[in-house]
Amino acid sequence: MSRTVWINGDLVPAEQATVSVFDHGLLYGDGVFEGMRIYSGKVFRLKEHLERLYESAKAICLTIPMPPEALVDATNLTVEENALEDGYIRLLVTRGSGTLGLDPNRCGNPQVIIIVDKIALYPAELYENGLEIITSSVIRNHPAALSPRIKSLNYLNNILAKLEGLQAGCVEALMLNHKGEVAECTGDNIFVVKKGELYTPPLDAGILAGITREVVLEIADADGVPTWEASMTKHDVYVADEVFLTGSAAEVIPVVKVDSRQIGDGRRGPVTKRLNELFKAAVRA
Ligand code: PMP
Repeated sequence: MSRTVWINGDLVPAEQATVSVFDHGLLYGDGVFEGMRIYSGKVFRLKEHLERLYESAKAICLTIPMPPEALVDATNLTVEENALEDGYIRLLVTRGSGTLGLDPNRCGNPQVIIIVDKIALYPAELYENGLEIITSSVIRNHPAALSPRIKSLNYLNNILAKLEGLQAGCVEALMLNHKGEVAECTGDNIFVVKKGELYTPPLDAGILAGITREVVLEIADADGVPTWEASMTKHDVYVADEVFLTGSAAEVIPVVKVDSRQIGDGRRGPVTKRLNELFKAAVRA
C-alpha cells in the first residue's frame, strides 16, 4: 500500500515526495532527523523528539522553516492520514538545494519531510533470547568533530560500525568513544545491570541523548532501581549481570553476548524483563 508523505506542507503519495539532486541533505548528509514510534495511534514523546530536532538544527545553524507547534500538527496529521495504529515516523529536515560546493548559505529551501511506515526492526524472539553484539573498531564521532548529540543525516560513522557488526554476524555493534569508554551502539543506547543497579554512559561520553534512554531511567527510578550515568569500559560490560539496548525503533532489547563473552547466564535477565514490561505499559499509558 502506498504511504502518504508530508513534504513542505503538502500530503502526497510517497512516489511524488521527491527532493532535488542538488539538496545538500543528499550531497553532504547536511540535515537533521528524528525517528519516533506510534503506539495506539499516538506519537510517543513527540514533544521531546521535536525539542531534540530543533536543538540538532540549531547546532548546525539550520533554521527549520516552521515553529514546533506547526510541526506537531503536521506530524499528527501525517499519522492520521496513514491510519497506522502502531508504526514508525521518520521526520527530516534537509539543508535544501544549493550548488555543488559545500557552502550551506547557498541553500535557500530546507525540505521538511515526514514519512510514516510500519516497523519491525528485530525478530520477536530476539526480545526473549537476546542479541549478540561485538565492539566495533570504529569509534563514535569525536564530539569536537561532529557531536553525537546532533542527530544529523550524516550517519556514516554509525554505518561503518554497523557494517563491521554485520560482517561478524551481529545486528548491532558497540561503539567506544575516543577515550576508549563505552559510548553507545550504532542506533541504540546501552545499559548495564550490576548487582541490581542500573548504569548507562553519561551524555559527555559522546552519545545521542536517547529519548528511550531517558524514559527507561525514569521508569527504573520509579520502580526503585538505583540508576547511574557513569562512564564505563568494555570490561564493565563483559562482567555485567545484564546488558540491554534502548531506542525508539529497538525499544528495550536484551544483549546476551558481547565480543564472544556470555553476559550473566546468557539469557534475558530479570531487570531487563521487568523494565521491558514497564516500558511497554508506559508507551500505551
Ligand atoms: N543512539 C543512536 C546513535 C541512535 O541513532 C538512536 C536512535 N535510533 C539512539 C541512540 C536511541 O535514541 P532514541 O531512544 O531517542 O530513539
